[in-house]
Parts: sequence; structure tokens; C-alpha cells
Amino acid sequence: MAETQEQKKKRRKQLTITEQVQEETAIQNAKEVTEALNELEKQGQQVDIQVCPRCKSPKVERAKSTGGDMWAHIGMLPPSYTCLECGWQERIILKATNKKLTVREVEIIREAMDENGEG
Ligand SMILES: [Zn+2]
Repeated sequence: MAETQEQKKKRRKQLTITEQVQEETAIQNAKEVTEALNELEKQGQQVDIQVCPRCKSPKVERAKSTGGDMWAHIGMLPPSYTCLECGWQERIILKATNKKLTVREVEIIREAMDENGEG
């Protein structure tokens, strides 16, 4: 079955330098966030922090309402957030937490600390 040979060659998505840097930054940010959360947990504090889903930076701010954000104002939509690091802006927010984690958040954090052999 030689015909699968070509197909089996998994086409690796070639990342641009910028994308690579972004990815590395995201991993680094996620690690720092995770470490910070671990520290707080040791101190008995449970916190939620907001992190950018793109670059995982904790430097996410709730976007200032510019008057056009009436939907968020009346609670119809979540407020929009903006990332100071990469400029990401969305109405959703990814929270990193050391409280009970949702599966998705656990996955994200585990991804970030895959070489952390804690046990
Ligand atoms: Zn960002």
C-alpha cells in the first residue's frame, strides 16, 4: 500500500518566527502564572486570575467601557477584556485558578508544566 506513504507524511504546520515567539511567550507566561498560583496555594490563598488565552499573560485588563458597551453593561454579554501583552481583546476570559479546576483549565495548566515532575 504505497499510496498511503505520501499521506502518512504528516504535514507539519510551519510556524513563522513570530508564531514561534508567541508560542514560547505563551508557555512562559503560563508557567509563571502556574507558579504564582502554586505559591499562593501554599500560603492558603485561593485566587482566580485572568490570563490571556492567546499569550497566557496575566496582564489582562477589563476593557474600559467606551459607551458602546451597553450589552455588557446590562449583563447581556460578558464584559470585554484586553491583553496588555499582545493586544488580544475579547468578551471571554480565561481564568487560571488554584481552586477546583475545570477540565479545560487543568489541561491548559498541565500543558504548561509538563516537565514539572511533582509527585
Ligand atoms: Zn495576550
